[in-house]
Amino acid sequence: MSSLIGCHALVFTGEFDTRGIASSVQRARAAGFDLIEFPLMEPDTFDSATARRSAAAEGLHTTASLGLPVEADVSSDDPSIVAAGQRLLDVALDKTAEMGGSRLCGVLYGSMRKHMAPASATGRASSVDAIRSLAGRASSLGIRLSLEVVNRYESNLLNTGRQALEFLKEVDRPDVSVHLDTYHMNIEESDLFQPILDVGDRLGYMHIGESHRGYLGTGSVDFGSAFRALDRIHYDGPIVFESFSSAVVSPTLSNTLGIWRNLWSDGDDLAAHANRFIRDQLAAVQTIELH
Ligand code: MN
Repeated sequence: MSSLIGCHALVFTGEFDTRGIASSVQRARAAGFDLIEFPLMEPDTFDSATARRSAAAEGLHTTASLGLPVEADVSSDDPSIVAAGQRLLDVALDKTAEMGGSRLCGVLYGSMRKHMAPASATGRASSVDAIRSLAGRASSLGIRLSLEVVNRYESNLLNTGRQALEFLKEVDRPDVSVHLDTYHMNIEESDLFQPILDVGDRLGYMHIGESHRGYLGTGSVDFGSAFRALDRIHYDGPIVFESFSSAVVSPTLSNTLGIWRNLWSDGDDLAAHANRFIRDQLAAVQTIELH
């Protein structure tokens, strides 16, 4: 495997001004990562030039992620809200390109929040159309889209890998992939092994998060199974550590994700530990073929 190992920028900072971007890139590099993922919760104001410059200076790869807000939900029944979502996705894609990012991932297909009703057929169709047209633009920019499967409290569309595969059939773009996250899988899937095998070569992005989103290895996620499955499918896409604590707050993202507790205070120690944890797991599973 030749996966790039990355870290979500919110491990280091909740403020994505020039200083926040530059310092998160330096700290991700210092922790040993190859890649940094920037959340584009407010893509209009994201300083992609600074992100590009900082990442180039540190030799770090970049990716971008977002979850759509309720007023820009491409799975809405209201065409004006769908249009706002399409515009936001276009801006996020442009910012990713300006940053030199290789991927745009996350909850791109609907609003990231607790929904109080199932998705409607109209809403789902709008979402499929929005992703298909975004994929056309992404491919001309050399950026790969990955749709993140999240738990039921953050989406009413994609809660399992299997649902994501069904959705991608409708999108009908082979270059759009599935983005799985061990934190969400631990809530919704049968286990941490079989769903990764089922998604197989449609897996394009992987988040590594613990059941409480804190230090890896201190919760209930079965990482052994997840890494064995990644090795089994010869996964070589990005593997990105994600963790959140009330010690580092993003005004938009932290509240959406329900980050109310302080699970750690030293982001640098957390990140260095996660980098070692992920690389150790990958090194170990590679020896399975010798058994
Ligand atoms: Mn995630």
